[in-house]
Amino acid sequence: AAKEQGRNRFNYFTHSMQQQARYRMKLIQELREAVTGNHFEIYYQPITDLNTQQVVKVEALIRWPHAHRGHIPPAEFIPVAEDTGLIIDIGDWVFYQAVQQVVAWRETYGIDIQISINKSPIQFRDEGARFDAWLNYLTQNSVAGGSICIEITEGLLLEANDNVSTKLLRYRDAGVQVSLDDFGTGYSSLAYLKRFDIDYLKIDRSFTNQLDVDENNVTLCEAIIVMAHKLGIKVIAEGVESQQQADILKGMGCDYAQGYFYSHPLPTEQFEQAYLKHNKRLRG
Ligand code: C2E
Ligand code: MG
Ligand code: MG
Ligand code: MG
Repeated sequence: AAKEQGRNRFNYFTHSMQQQARYRMKLIQELREAVTGNHFEIYYQPITDLNTQQVVKVEALIRWPHAHRGHIPPAEFIPVAEDTGLIIDIGDWVFYQAVQQVVAWRETYGIDIQISINKSPIQFRDEGARFDAWLNYLTQNSVAGGSICIEITEGLLLEANDNVSTKLLRYRDAGVQVSLDDFGTGYSSLAYLKRFDIDYLKIDRSFTNQLDVDENNVTLCEAIIVMAHKLGIKVIAEGVESQQQADILKGMGCDYAQGYFYSHPLPTEQFEQAYLKHNKRLRG
């Protein structure tokens, strides 16, 4: 019986592996179609200055509205896009959209806001010509580098070589800012912070959303903030979901906050309306 059970388990296992492989093939095919057919959208999530309560930045988050399955979460398709190289075209598209959005907001509403885009480590490989194309696109649209921030993860810094820091430096020379995303989840070596010039550090939401229930997280966040400030780096707290968390962060000297407490990521028009309403309220 044990043998039979074992075999069944094995069969079950191979079956599910086959299913997984078939699902993946289908996903890759659909992802290709989504790239050529321009099926993606960008949602925007405000980043609030904790001192002024003003929304000064916004993160661009890609959305893939699938014909039959609703939105497929980025966590599901970004890794596939990375494996297949499709992330290169997707990443370019996100950047071009962001630059156009900076222009549109400026011209239509006089909104001056920095857009953060997430950039995969894959996008830094063979970058050469693409870097020039991005800079040209900024110039052609009269958008200053400082209107864009690129969010990178520790994974990129792990590939640590002079190459990476040279590439980051080229962006910073062009005025483009750099954020280190999801800080605290990976290797989080303090050495990175010293070696690579970055403008912002984003504390991962696994720390911020436990702030009001776990003293250890308070200590940790405080240490990160103090250290970042000593190095001239501003701190953004991700995943802030309550007033209490926001208050604790502000008390610790954290610079910016982002999370559902302020707003979920929103489609362009909804973001615009919320932004304008919020600013009007601030002005009184
Ligand atoms: P991320 O860059 O760390 O983005 C923050 C994620 O946290 C977003 O998930 C956002 O919707 C979610 N979030 C924001 N506030 C809260 C909160 O208060 N509570 C909780 N529980 N979650 C919150 P999303 O949009 O599903 O994106 C997931 C990840 O996918 C991103 O993490 C980023 O790594 C990646 N991603 C998204 N868009 C792009 C893109 O255009 N290019 C690349 N390469 N990666 C992207
Ligand atoms: Mg991000
Ligand atoms: Mg993040
Ligand atoms: Mg994250």
